[in-house]
This record gives sequence, C-alpha cells and structure tokens, in this order.
Amino acid sequence: MWSTMQDGPLTITSILRHGTDVFGDGEVVTYTGEGTRRRSYAELGVRAARLAAALRGLGVDADQRVATFMWNNAEHLEAYFAVPSMGAVLHTLNLRLFPEQLTYIADHAEDRVVIVDGRLVPLLAGVLADMKTVRHVIVTGEGDRTPLEGAGKELHDYEELLAAQPGDGFDWPDLDERSAAAMCYTSGTTGNPKGVVYSHRSAYLHSMSVCTGNAVGLSAADKVLPIVPMFHANAWGFPYAAVMAGASLLMPDRFLQAEPLCRMIEDERPTVSGAVPTIWGDVLRHVREHGADLTSLRMVTCGGSAVPEALMRAFEEIGVRIVQAWGMTETSPLATIAHPPAGAAGDEHWRYRATQGRALAGVEVRVVGDGDVVLPKDGRSVGEIQVRGPWVTGAYHRDEDPGRFHDGWLRTGDVGTVSPDGYMVLTDRAKDVIKSGGEWISSVELENHLMAHPDVIEAAVVGVPDERWAERPLASVVVRDGARVSAAELKKFLAERVARWQLPERWAFVAEIPKTSVGKFSKRTLRQRYADGEME
Ligand code: ADP
Repeated sequence: MWSTMQDGPLTITSILRHGTDVFGDGEVVTYTGEGTRRRSYAELGVRAARLAAALRGLGVDADQRVATFMWNNAEHLEAYFAVPSMGAVLHTLNLRLFPEQLTYIADHAEDRVVIVDGRLVPLLAGVLADMKTVRHVIVTGEGDRTPLEGAGKELHDYEELLAAQPGDGFDWPDLDERSAAAMCYTSGTTGNPKGVVYSHRSAYLHSMSVCTGNAVGLSAADKVLPIVPMFHANAWGFPYAAVMAGASLLMPDRFLQAEPLCRMIEDERPTVSGAVPTIWGDVLRHVREHGADLTSLRMVTCGGSAVPEALMRAFEEIGVRIVQAWGMTETSPLATIAHPPAGAAGDEHWRYRATQGRALAGVEVRVVGDGDVVLPKDGRSVGEIQVRGPWVTGAYHRDEDPGRFHDGWLRTGDVGTVSPDGYMVLTDRAKDVIKSGGEWISSVELENHLMAHPDVIEAAVVGVPDERWAERPLASVVVRDGARVSAAELKKFLAERVARWQLPERWAFVAEIPKTSVGKFSKRTLRQRYADGEME
C-alpha cells in the first residue's frame, strides 16, 4: 500500500523560498575589516533571482557548471542559492590549491563561468588562461580587474549584471531532487583531486540534520559564523542550514586571523561557529594575550582533524563549548558529532567529548578489519571506518575508483573503533598509521597528549623508517614563544600518559607545522622531510 502523502521534491530552491519568505528579516552580515555590509534574507531572494537571470543571459543552461572563487561573503551565499536553484551546478573552487590542481579541477568539472571576489583577481589571473572550458568571469566588489584581461574570457561586473536584469523575480524550474546541485573536489592526498557531486536532496537532508538538536540545533534565534571556508566541504553545510532555520549568518570574508575574528565575535555576538582546530588554537592565544569576550557563542563545532581535549577544556574555561564533529567532503560533510550522553560527568564527560562522536540519524557507521570482515562495535576492535547514508557519496565524478567504495559503503580511509553506545574514536588515517615492530602507534593520541603540555602550541607525529622496528614515531613540535622545553622533558611528560615503547625518540622543534590547502597538518610533507630517518 502506498501512503497518502504528497511527494514534494527536496531542493535547494525550497530552502531559498522558505528562508526568504518566512525569515525575510534574517540577515547575512559580511565583515569588511572596518565594519559590516548587511543584507536581509528578503534581499538574498531578490539578488539570487537576479543572479540566476544574469547567468541565464550569459547562456548558462541545464546542468552547466558555475564555479566560485570566493571567500565567505554575501555574494558567495547568493551564488550558493542562485546556481543550484536555476538547475545549474555550483562548483566551489578551493583558492588555496596549487595552480595545476586548480586548472585540473576546473577542466575536469567543465566550469563555464567563474564568479570571483575582486580581491582574489590576482590569484585567479595566474590560472585563468589555462582554464579551457571557462567562457565568462564575473567579478564582485572592489579590486583591479585588469590582470584578468588577455586571458581570452568575457569579463563582467557582478553588480552591473544584477542591476541590468529587468525584474526582481526568476522562474525557478521544477527540479528532480536527485539531480546535481553542487560539487566540491577533495584535496587529493594521492593522485588527482576527486570530485564529489551533491544532489538537491542530499543538501536538503544534510541541512535538516544540521538543524536537529542532536547536531547543532539551529533556529531563528541563532547567528552563525562559518569560519570554515565555503570552498571547503560547503562550510560544513552552515549556509544552507542557516537559511533553512532562519538563523542569520555572519560572514568573515578574508579576515580569518584571530584578531579580526575576536573583534567580529565581540561586535556581532554570533551564537554558533565552526572552524578547524588550528584556528581555535590561534583564537585562544589571542584571548589569553589580549582578552576578548566570546561568550555569545553557545556552541562551536570543530573538526577536520582531531580536536585536542586540551583545546576544548581551555575554551570551556572562557565560557565557550567546543563540540568535536567528524566528516569528509564525501559526507557533505557532517556525519558524527560528540555530544556526551545525558548524565555523563567529570572525567567520563571528557572521555566522550574527546571522541569523534555518534552518527547523525541517516548516517550508518561500521568498523571493517582485514579481509573485509565487519568488526564488533566494542570500543576495542580497530579497523577502517566505513559509512553510508543519503548524504554520503557513492562514487566520484568521472572517476572510476571502486577502491574507495565497498558494498554500498564509503571507505573513509580513517582507522578507529566504535563503542557499544555508538561513539567513534579515530586513531589515525590509514595512510598516517605508524606501525612499529608490528604494533600500531596512534599518532593522534601522541599529538593530543603533546598539545596538552602548557609549552606546546602544535604537535604532529609521523612514522619514519627505522632499521630495527620498520617505523618509529617522529614528533614535530611548535613551542610557545620564549619556552625552553626540551625533548627529554616532553618525553617524560608523554611517559606518564602512554606506553614506553610508543615514545618518540626523534624530535624536531620547528617554527611551524606545514599545512595542507585546508589547514590540516601536512603529514605527507613531514614524512618526506624526515624520510631518511635522520634529523636536520
Ligand atoms: P581531505 O583532508 O582529504 O582534503 P576532507 O577535508 O574532506 O578531506 O577531510 C576528511 C578527513 O578529515 C577525514 O577523513 C578525517 O581523516 C579528517 N577528520 C575530519 N574530522 C575529524 C575529526 N574530528 N577528528 C579526526 N579527523 C578528522
């Protein structure tokens, strides 16, 4: 028997309609360095319609790709809604990638149009001529356009295009909820970057999930500060979820340093934010040195790499709750989140907080061992984490890579355990695992302990070749300015927390840990640097 329910498609267009009709007074606030630019969600609706009409006027049709090369700002939000809602596909380009990767991605996705922040013109100018399928470039805001001339593309001004449209509406087409809405390439730690294509349905369901109380619990009472870039895994889904919930958005644009972030938090009082641990580490140091009131934040989601418990505890002391979440570009990205169970207190509370958390409804998680054997969720059996669900990718765009999928599950490449009550603990990424004398050493565990040392700012542990043990851990550490802590002292500190055979013998005191284009420790660079097992 079929139900009697109607079957409305779950689309980004319907998020746009709901957000702009019901929450027309919601606001997108963009930080400008000195002040803010403010637009209501009612204006977002009008400007998205004008952008869609303008793109149609440039010949954008069907599922053609429109790329963005932008920071988090109001115009990027307009593109986030206009492009998928008109039936085209939004491709967020990661502006921190190497030029060859950018042109590879733009060609692979067959981008026809690029919308670029005026401030990013010099960066795009270096690669634009090599983007073979791109015909049009639309420039927003201030900044000299001349570097883009000579690349053989038609150049347009964003505001002029919007102003030239005859009306405030657009005849949004009826879309299949399973059709492509947006795409994002993962940074590709091996081989070429891989494209993940989100559907309208996956974006809609993911947004609803972000809004649930077990996740972020967004409502119209919130103001969200997405620090994680909109070009990286959809800014963790905050833009769509916020508009769906009628929560206002505070966009940091290019001001991602601790000082302006603290200023905008004090001035605008956002209630929710999200960024990788490195950013929160910088913010913490700034607060300690200069002071800042961050208590408007009721919840900060943090992930992208393991969140040190010490960082969460330090934020708790200044009145801000950091909640660890886990996900990937492939999972839209939110998949698990670490709210402790009701009643967990003291050490038990913190044990839960330090995990990668429990799956959101709709996402299933399993642990798989050698020979594809599904392992028990007993909190002890270590294996590869596999996930599936309606916002988890089942393939890559124009890329046959069956190695990443198994039996309808995504192989995440992350290694860890799941407890009987569903909490996932990651011990490593498969490629970062350190195997010493046949035993696994968790680089994540060593890093977490080191980063809890008062003199250590950052620590990254990688495996380096060793004649006797095959591999041994090497710790690279960044210490606080003026601190004089030695390797022997750090080793002693670790010895109180992990088994002796896991203690690194090799130490590198460095000014900075190398980072990837999305701000994570680049373990590949570290491994290459110390590949011969010798220290500098
Ligand atoms: P990539 O880092 O490959 O460019 P993503 O940005 O999509 O791709 O990152 C996904 C990966 O980030 C996960 O597979 C996992 O290794 C890591 N990650 C994300 N959140 C966490 C977390 N809370 N703890 C540990 N690792 C995390």
